[in-house]
Amino acid sequence: MTASGAEPTLFERIAAREIPARIVAETDRVIAFHDIAPKAPVHVIVTPKRGDYRDVVELASADPALLAELVDVANGIAADLADGDFRLIFNTGPGGGQTVFHVHAHVLAGGLEEASLAG
Ligand code: AMP
Repeated sequence: MTASGAEPTLFERIAAREIPARIVAETDRVIAFHDIAPKAPVHVIVTPKRGDYRDVVELASADPALLAELVDVANGIAADLADGDFRLIFNTGPGGGQTVFHVHAHVLAGGLEEASLAG
């Protein structure tokens, strides 16, 4: 259980090392790991360690510095794992393709011509 009494989210459990993941970067508040079903040569999830915010709209309103930190970590991953260029996607709401309701960015990089998050 989290401090709020809610069940931990999938990504909180990854941050706590309860569920294995291929972690590529970490700060005090942010963790990044390879997506389990990659849609591009580099496909990394960047997310706050705590699941306080459901989506990027909530995060931007409540903690813009944490949103900026996600972008900064994404930029570093694209530099480390690809040529520095990247696509940053925040699926927002079920109709936007969101399935994990703990805000996260998809970092796609490295040969994006064929990359799509659809299907
Ligand atoms: P979204 O559909 O935008 O909510 O993105 C959730 C993402 O989490 C999907 O791209 C999934 O492939 C990914 N995912 C689900 N479970 C895991 C896991 N255990 N480790 C890494 N990525 C995962």
